[in-house]
Amino acid sequence: MEELLLSQISEKFTTSTLQKMSAFYDNKKVSPPPGAMFRAKTHNGTITAYHSGKVLFQGKSPIKEIERWASEKTETSKTVSVASHNSKYSPQSEIFTMSHIGSDESGTGDYFGPMTVCAVYVKKESIETLKQIGIQDSKKITDKQISLLAKQLIEMNIPYSSMVLDNPTYNKLQKQGWTQGKMKTMLHYHVIDKLLKKIRDEHFEGIVIDQFCQPTVFKKHLASENHSLHDKTFFITKAESYSIAVAAASVIARLRFLQEMERLSNLIDTPLLKGASKAVDEQIGHIIQSKGEEVLLEIAKVHFANTKKAKQLL
Ligand code: MG
Repeated sequence: MEELLLSQISEKFTTSTLQKMSAFYDNKKVSPPPGAMFRAKTHNGTITAYHSGKVLFQGKSPIKEIERWASEKTETSKTVSVASHNSKYSPQSEIFTMSHIGSDESGTGDYFGPMTVCAVYVKKESIETLKQIGIQDSKKITDKQISLLAKQLIEMNIPYSSMVLDNPTYNKLQKQGWTQGKMKTMLHYHVIDKLLKKIRDEHFEGIVIDQFCQPTVFKKHLASENHSLHDKTFFITKAESYSIAVAAASVIARLRFLQEMERLSNLIDTPLLKGASKAVDEQIGHIIQSKGEEVLLEIAKVHFANTKKAKQLL
């Protein structure tokens, strides 16, 4: 799926910036194609510089490389092509530098606790501030930092909307045949819908969803509940690394997940483990023995294989 979203972006720089780049990437250089000044490969992608001042950024996260040189650009960014089967739903890179909405979820891979989703609206003017306070992918920050960052976001009055799909409802929907993908889809849809009502006439370039399934599948889930995709909705994997709005959403969604985990832990007098590891299987076993299996419906995503594995341990 990753390859489908590879992008290629070209930018223009002055000769002196090209020289700086050449020095910066010196130990990452590979043999350049004909006519090129140099080519370098980093874990974000390939950078090819031409004597004309044109620099081509290609690969997994070209934006990360471009960001290093953003202040030195001589022309505004131009996305040459975003290769994708669903190019209609792939965001243009400009969107990430403008006012936009981003949404992300948390708790989908954790046996205990709910699934949470958040959508955040970030105005163009706030992008820099959010970067400065350290907003980034929630997976890269500690739980303690999450609550500090989320507090700052809330104090800054950044418009957002979030939802918690509690375990009893999750388990009920799952029994009715809903896949986790459908639940995620509906949650994303509803938080975005609530946020759009909140921000009313505020301008935004688009809505970026951290992609977890093909856009056609997302649309199919929406259609099954008589909803349709909001205008200007785009999907991209690893969206939190491109979009500060998605990164902020990931932080708030994670905070809500952590808060719920604390509430559930208090409820059953056991600090519940995150994730879905073997240690979790053992904890499930203890809970079944001390409180009975029924309680799992209140605190866990019971269809996960962990339930079965835990019972085999008993
Ligand atoms: Mg995500």
